[in-house]
Amino acid sequence: MLDRIKKILSVKHISQRGFFLPLLILLVLSGCTTDQTVVRKIKSDIVKASPPPSIPTPAPKSSSQKNIKPTQPPKASKASKPKIVKARLYSGKIHKTFSQSASKAGVSKRHIKQLESLFAEQINFRKDLRRGDKFKVIVRGDKILAAELLNRGEPVQIIHHTNRKGLSRFYNIKGKPLGADFLRTPLKSARVSSHFTLKRYHPVLKIYRPHRGTDFKARTGVKIYATANGIVEKRERQKGYGNVIFLSHGGGLYTTVYAHLSRFEQGIKVGKKVKQGDLLGYVGSTGLVTGPHLHYEFREKGEYKDAMKVALPRSRRLSTEERRYFYKMTAGVRRALLQL
Ligand SMILES: [Zn+2]
Repeated sequence: MLDRIKKILSVKHISQRGFFLPLLILLVLSGCTTDQTVVRKIKSDIVKASPPPSIPTPAPKSSSQKNIKPTQPPKASKASKPKIVKARLYSGKIHKTFSQSASKAGVSKRHIKQLESLFAEQINFRKDLRRGDKFKVIVRGDKILAAELLNRGEPVQIIHHTNRKGLSRFYNIKGKPLGADFLRTPLKSARVSSHFTLKRYHPVLKIYRPHRGTDFKARTGVKIYATANGIVEKRERQKGYGNVIFLSHGGGLYTTVYAHLSRFEQGIKVGKKVKQGDLLGYVGSTGLVTGPHLHYEFREKGEYKDAMKVALPRSRRLSTEERRYFYKMTAGVRRALLQL
């Protein structure tokens, strides 16, 4: 049975035939609460969905048909149940760049950005990536469950996992957290002049409104550093923020914002990958301000957090208990990566 799945879903097969039905299998999963159940379901549905030997494999579709839409589950599968959670598998081979090939396979732009930043923590895209490297991405709903890049024969994996405290993030296959480890402040020597608060008298606007960041008093020209590895999401001039940089971390789970810069460091452009401690720009007084300072924000899943108080995600290894939980909860999805 396993061999059959492997045969049917082999990347070779896929790359030769363009798209293949099971790739886009829309799996009907009901009431699944853990990744493990999901994948058990994925696997059982794949088995159901695979055509019996006498039925010809689906006709190869032209590669221009890149619009991958979830289709109704194959008739072979049981009647659908009320609650549906969809899981989809995308895979393919890299021709030029990961983003091009993944996009061709139907992976959304947002997910490609996420995957790039997560893979980039494990391999060097420019140096290590080879034409012919294979990838798989398992997506459920709008979330990446897992992904794998077969880089020169070496698998590099990304696993989504929610820990016992309910915090979700991405890990490598061994349970090492990806996409974090933040410095508390973006300046070498920092003095807070205005804290995160939900009500503050704005000196320029002369009204009370929330201050969803931390202000650091510093002279114009003082260097500002990235607080964690990430990707430049925005680098622009805005009315309130002035010259501002948004960095995205951990595949978009976290965002840090650096505002009122006098100028940007050369080479800091949208899409650029930065490492923790990289120079981003210089303190200034652009935007709605009374004097030079750095306004810094920390957002988690889009929510504003007090950067001085938030429990910063650390790339520490998991405790034994947490690791056991990680292995338990992700067993199915990890197995699926290996087998699909
Ligand atoms: Zn501020």
